[in-house]
Amino acid sequence: MTHYPTHTPILLSPPHLSGEEKRFVDEAFRTNWIAPLGPNVDGFEREMSEHLGVAQGARLACCATSSGTAAIHLGLILLGVKAGDVVLCSDFTFVASANPIRQLGAEPVFVDSDETSWNMSPVALRRAIETLVAQGRHPRACIAVDLYGQGCDYPALQAICDDYDIPILEDAAESLGASVHGRACGTFGRMAALSFNGNKIITTSGGGMLVSTDASLVERARHLATQAREPAAHYEHVEAGFNYRMSNVLAGIGRGQLSVLADRVARRRAIFARYEASLARRPGVRFMPEPVWSRSTHWLTAATLDPAAAGCTRDELLAALSAQRIEARPTWKPMHMQPLFAGCRMFAHDPARRPVSQRLFEQGICLPSGSAMSDEDLARVAHTIESALSPARAAVA
Ligand SMILES: *Cc1c(COP(=O)(O)O)cnc(C)c1O
Repeated sequence: MTHYPTHTPILLSPPHLSGEEKRFVDEAFRTNWIAPLGPNVDGFEREMSEHLGVAQGARLACCATSSGTAAIHLGLILLGVKAGDVVLCSDFTFVASANPIRQLGAEPVFVDSDETSWNMSPVALRRAIETLVAQGRHPRACIAVDLYGQGCDYPALQAICDDYDIPILEDAAESLGASVHGRACGTFGRMAALSFNGNKIITTSGGGMLVSTDASLVERARHLATQAREPAAHYEHVEAGFNYRMSNVLAGIGRGQLSVLADRVARRRAIFARYEASLARRPGVRFMPEPVWSRSTHWLTAATLDPAAAGCTRDELLAALSAQRIEARPTWKPMHMQPLFAGCRMFAHDPARRPVSQRLFEQGICLPSGSAMSDEDLARVAHTIESALSPARAAVA
């Protein structure tokens, strides 16, 4: 009798606990700090600012929030974004980068990726700014997104934005642990937003953080995130705030997770290297490039599949993986292709050609990249892909 193993599903990027989290969470329970704010929140902010700041020799201030999206929302408010403003944003990203722009009544204008980093194209950014400024619409801010664990070309983006005095908000939700020219992601621009959602490289189940070298900005974020309560016993308010702070229990999970971040990065990079070793030479397969100035975490291993050369479309590969209970996903659908943002402007890397982001989406796939994935599971995924890319050979085997 043939034995068919019943495989457990392999997920894209599930949470990976270390055991360290329990110590902090137990402490919260023991002391009854089951509230937003508390010693774990203070500790998590302090430890993150030390973690990110140490390489820069810079002092960073952090405000832990209920989500990464909340951190982006607060960041835009702090940059003075108001109804009617134009805000530049990476086109190739998750919708949470752009939603807060609309929620503030501002107009998102999307900027294409380039092929060398998959992140915001400096060429497209300059053209977008020049065009908008010529039309009298000086952009109020620029949200640059670090995709799939890789930072943007910040020296280039920053120089362009500096020419026009446009502040950058770094969306570092996917890039904690990465660096650009040796400098940590989460420290670029006027401020940065981190995410600790369940699928990110480290998690609090849900949460985020706003980071800046400008302590007064972060102080103001803290104020707005706690209902903008004035220091008075009777709850005095002069402006409308938000309930955007992180809970003390969840910050305990974050402290435990942060202590193993370096291990998590090493494992995700090793997973990428394993996929690359078995698949990079296949015709039509191209992994997300890592420029020499970038050290990516490879939070998600991402690649494109040119169907003409690979003999298999991206969707056929997704189906082959799904049949083996392996979760893979298309890359992010660009914002300019989303019904939500129909009618929004978009600046392509090369205006004479289709946007780069469109091809990266149509051919792009994210492979299982969870740091807890075993070598056996990783080999199973790689083998499934190899078979899907050579259907004839697989049928014979
Ligand atoms: C996850 C993510 C966010 C949002 O973070 P949440 O904590 O889920 O609100 C924002 N931007 C990008 C690029 C993300 O991947």
